[in-house]
Amino acid sequence: MSHRRHNIGPVSIRERLYPAQEDLAVLHMHCAHARYVWNLGLEQRGYWRRGMPSISAHAQQRSLAQARKDTWLGEGSSSVQQQALFDLDRAFKNFWRNPSHFGRPSWRKAGIHEGFAVRDLKTRRINRRWGEVQVPKLGWVRFRITRAWAEIAGGTSARVTLDRAGRWHVSFTTPPKPFERTGTGAVVGLDMGVVSAFTTSDGEHSVMPQLLSPGETQRKRRLERKLARQQKGSKRRERTKHQIARLAAKEADRRKDFIEKSTTALVRDFDVVCVEDLLVKNMLRSARGTVEAPGRRVRQKAGLNRAISSVAFSAFRRRLEDKAACATAPVAVVAVPPAFTSQRCSHCGHTAPQNRKSQAVFVCGACGYEAHADVNAAKNILAAGLAVSGRGGTPHGQPVRAEHSGPVKRQPLGTEAA
Ligand SMILES: [Zn+2]
Repeated sequence: MSHRRHNIGPVSIRERLYPAQEDLAVLHMHCAHARYVWNLGLEQRGYWRRGMPSISAHAQQRSLAQARKDTWLGEGSSSVQQQALFDLDRAFKNFWRNPSHFGRPSWRKAGIHEGFAVRDLKTRRINRRWGEVQVPKLGWVRFRITRAWAEIAGGTSARVTLDRAGRWHVSFTTPPKPFERTGTGAVVGLDMGVVSAFTTSDGEHSVMPQLLSPGETQRKRRLERKLARQQKGSKRRERTKHQIARLAAKEADRRKDFIEKSTTALVRDFDVVCVEDLLVKNMLRSARGTVEAPGRRVRQKAGLNRAISSVAFSAFRRRLEDKAACATAPVAVVAVPPAFTSQRCSHCGHTAPQNRKSQAVFVCGACGYEAHADVNAAKNILAAGLAVSGRGGTPHGQPVRAEHSGPVKRQPLGTEAA
């Protein structure tokens, strides 16, 4: 696959776990203990937060050790319980570092959050289709192999989960590979459009390619009509469903490929990447509605496009951050509130809805500055990002590029530095 080369940052592979009937009690116990310890830790943190110094992760581990001596927790696995606290600690650290991305660690509920982490991961291969993973207090438990064994065996930790349909899974996490890059001194702002595309403050437009060819789109429509006619539960209907699912997987693969290539190129070329906080942007959009979409079907479609873009852009931002986090020369991803980025003049700062002449054209009513509307927005996002991250640049003016004076030479998307 072409996007495998772009798999930078922690990679997770999920396989279906097939525990024996007699293993279920222990698996359920691990889930219950992990949840109990997580929630207890969460309560402790919440309690200490009110005016008191926060309890340290180390102190929490000590109090867990004491609780294991004094209570029924002692019957369970110390590694499962300790790991629940480590996970909680990491969740808090992520939250403090980037609240809008990670959210505050929340209460785990029975029946919904069923799972536990496996440390000191040991796996072995039984045959082509089956592997085994070592679970504390159980020993080897079977799972079905659907991915390359090397990827599974490369995992250093795993998580066992139970979904609401009663299926057990095991997810293997491979540690992040470093992203090799050298500092460029270049900075960029990104404007994310409603359609699956983004524009940089350097004036570059990147559009997600059509996910399906015209032939494939036609085939998908035909299959969907066929499905509607077919009898529920019939073999033929199952086959049609499978064919549709394969097309959907193709679409997802191509979307992923675009995201992987674009984020790799951005992290390679820029030391600072400023993006809008899309959570806020989407809220603004849904409140405003779409004026340009009068017909009902059209509006439905616009809503759907928006939902798809919003999912794709969350993935985009997550991959951007994953890659930035393991870059060998530092890359900062800065999220800025999206207010007025499309109405403000990036040249003089004059802000008025009339500045935006159309979807594509921006003309400032005060200074006469003319630009592509998305490029103007991307420049505002860059300036805001530089201002909040304290990296220089004035809120409304052109940011100063350290070292680089001319535009950054960029390789076309999808080509990598050797
Ligand atoms: Zn202006």
